[in-house]
Amino acid sequence: MSTAQLISGVLQNLGIAAIAALFYDIVLRSSPTAGIRHWLIALVFAGGAVGSMSLPVQVAPGIIFDLRNAFVILAMSFGGWLTVGVTTVAAVAFRLWIGGAGAAAGAVGIVMCAAIGVAFAVYFKGRRMGLGTFAVLGLFCAASLVSMFLLPYESAIAVLRKIGPVMLVMNVLGTMLVGGIVDRQRRQYERENTLTREASTDSLTRLANRRAFDLRGPNLMATTSERGHACALMLIDIDYFKQINDTHGHDVGDKVLQHLAVLVRSNVRKTDLVARYGGEEIALVLPSHDAKRAFNLGERLRKAVAATPYRHEGSLEISLSVSIGLYASDGVQIEAFGTAFKRADMALYRAKASGRNRVEIAVAA
Ligand code: GH3
Ligand code: MG
Ligand code: MG
Repeated sequence: MSTAQLISGVLQNLGIAAIAALFYDIVLRSSPTAGIRHWLIALVFAGGAVGSMSLPVQVAPGIIFDLRNAFVILAMSFGGWLTVGVTTVAAVAFRLWIGGAGAAAGAVGIVMCAAIGVAFAVYFKGRRMGLGTFAVLGLFCAASLVSMFLLPYESAIAVLRKIGPVMLVMNVLGTMLVGGIVDRQRRQYERENTLTREASTDSLTRLANRRAFDLRGPNLMATTSERGHACALMLIDIDYFKQINDTHGHDVGDKVLQHLAVLVRSNVRKTDLVARYGGEEIALVLPSHDAKRAFNLGERLRKAVAATPYRHEGSLEISLSVSIGLYASDGVQIEAFGTAFKRADMALYRAKASGRNRVEIAVAA
């Protein structure tokens, strides 16, 4: 093996590492479901390991080295059990298929790396990994070279003399490269997810905010109606909330809002859209709720609020009530979202005007 061949082999393997890391990014961003994402990440790592082995640096007949172990050792940290399982099986099977004097030693080395990777992932769960961490992992990768002693002792020593130092450097560099890029991409993806979530969440109540309601509400109502199902829109407004603020202070008022948000959330389904629409106003889109069902839910909520005062710091008890305005479509007569909202708002106004702590409903015209 000439130095030129060695350098070219090393570069090819680092190229595969970079390509796999790019695929990882594409998979994170483009997978339609979490299940598909799991499998695709497993395939990226398995593909990286096998791809690296298909462009090996041949040291002696049957003795090859490549970056497979960098993928195997990182698989658990970035993809979990499925990824480490698929990657290990694929790498072992491919190494045995290639055959040669180093096949058994190679297969054992792969399994050792998988085990080290799992232990590492368990230890580092939730902790920040940096390039230094990946360098140490790369050193562990190289430790799997002890599997070479499955060869006759003299051959093992000869192989290790010949490729030991290059293998060490390459494993460290490879693990730093794959780990570094993949980790960066994952953190950026998580940051973007958090930002998107925050942009549509009300920070006080953790309900959807008005922006999210205006975006998702019309879609939800339209898709429900297209399927021929009934759909209701509900507006909840706290009665005399200004008095609560004036009597107990704005901070206590905030807690009352949080209390109401929890009460409402716990009385509806996960699929219902619940948003803080205004100061002390909560708006809901309720798929599959016709007038009767929506009215019953409204009554249940109204009674729950009246029966559950907010307890402030264990001593102060603040009773509250809500007025509720409803619009319900029967799935046949479909109105524009804006019209539906106006009708629910008018119903809410009627509930306020006729004494509060009431549910009023506007049925589709
Ligand atoms: P009504 O029964 O007619 O609904 O009377 P109300 O006092 O609830 O209604 P009004 O619209 O007069 O007052 C709403 C109050 O909600 C006024 C405002 O100070 C308060 N508010 C709005 N947003 C917040 C908030 O984020 N925190 C707190 N503590 N109060 C808020
Ligand atoms: Mg109001
Ligand atoms: Mg009010």
